[in-house]
Formats: sequence, structure tokens, C-alpha cells
Amino acid sequence: MPLTASSKIPITPAEGPIADQAFNHAAESLCRIGREFYRRGWVFGTSGNFSAKISTSPLRLAITSSGLDKGSLAAADILEIDSDATVLRGSGLPSAETALHLVIVRQLGAGAVLHTHSVCGTLLSDRFAADSGFAIEGYEMLKGLAGVSTHEHREWVPILENSQDYAALSTELASVLRQYPQCHGVLLRKHGLYTWGQEIAEARRHVEILEFLFEVQARLQFASMPTPSLI
Ligand SMILES: [Zn+2]
Repeated sequence: MPLTASSKIPITPAEGPIADQAFNHAAESLCRIGREFYRRGWVFGTSGNFSAKISTSPLRLAITSSGLDKGSLAAADILEIDSDATVLRGSGLPSAETALHLVIVRQLGAGAVLHTHSVCGTLLSDRFAADSGFAIEGYEMLKGLAGVSTHEHREWVPILENSQDYAALSTELASVLRQYPQCHGVLLRKHGLYTWGQEIAEARRHVEILEFLFEVQARLQFASMPTPSLI
């Protein structure tokens, strides 16, 4: 059907912020996730960061500003950035980890990227660092991961050595995602989880599923360890 004047798809300007509606919707959702994840113990202190793609071409992300308490995020704390992490809307600085969000969005076509710092993820990321990852298999909860339809699934969770050199870390993350294109999340050692989804709701669900499975794995791993002697 030919396009009429009223049905033409609006052309997004190459520069400048994206339409308010997409940004506002993403900002509200990211704030809600921040409050929930804080309450559940996954983003204490000012840890964690969240992003959502609000435009593919040109690439635009709504992303949390750096250094903020995620339990009390407001829409004004969300920035709009372009593919170079230049801030187009909002005040504040994007997290130093923004480069990792951009790698995941570009490489996997993700619509949202969520990063948490949980106790169990932190413990496991160190326990299995020498193996560069660990497998989770046999659990019904695995079916909460996109594309997984049976508990017989084997999920490999890659672990990257943590670094403050985010350019180098981005290169390593890109390499791991090429090596494990089917994975649903990556851990940084003694740091936290990166997971993603086609949209915000799916990424949120992946955090919930992976954090559940991490807790199961951590309890299994550490429950059998000998208690240090007090004598
Ligand atoms: Zn972090």
C-alpha cells in the first residue's frame, strides 16, 4: 500500500535527541528496575548500570548516569547517548562501563543491557575464574532464558578478568561474545553480571533468572566448604 502523507514514517534527524516518548518510556522503566534491583540486593551502593536502546539508526541509548544510588533513581538521572557515548540529553556522565553496553548492543543487537553486582555473582566469578566460566545445567529455571525450552539446557557463563581499562575490556568482551554467541550473560571477576535482552522486560527477566541460578550454584559450592577453625 503506498504511503500517504499522513502515514509516512518520520525521518529521524542524524543528530540530536530522539523523540521524547521513546526516551521517557525507557527512562521510567530503568528507574523502576533500579528501585527493584536495589531492594533485592543486586545493586547496592552506587553499583550497577542499565541501558535501553531507543533508536537503532542512528544508534541511541538511554542509560543511567554514573555514581548514583540505584534505589532512588529519577528520570532526570537517565542520559541519552549516541554510539560514541556522547551525551545528547540530560546532565551527568555516563558510566565508565558504557563501552561494554555499546559492545553488547552492537554485537548482539540487544535492546537493553543490565549490569548488577550481587553477592552470589561476585563469589562465583572468583571461584571459577581459573576456568574462565562455569556451566549451569538441569534446572527448570533455565527455561526463563530466551530461546531455552527445556531444563536439559547447558548454560555456559563466561568470566572475564576485571579491569579499569574499559577499552581493553570491551575488546575482550567482544571476543567472548563471538566465542559464546548463545550465552545470556557474562560475569566480570569479583565485579558483577552483564546480561541483556531484546527489550527491557526480557533483560530484566534474565537478571532475575541468572541471579536465582547463581544463588543455587553458590549455595551448592560454598555449603560444603569446611568451616575455618576458631582455635
Ligand atoms: Zn560494575
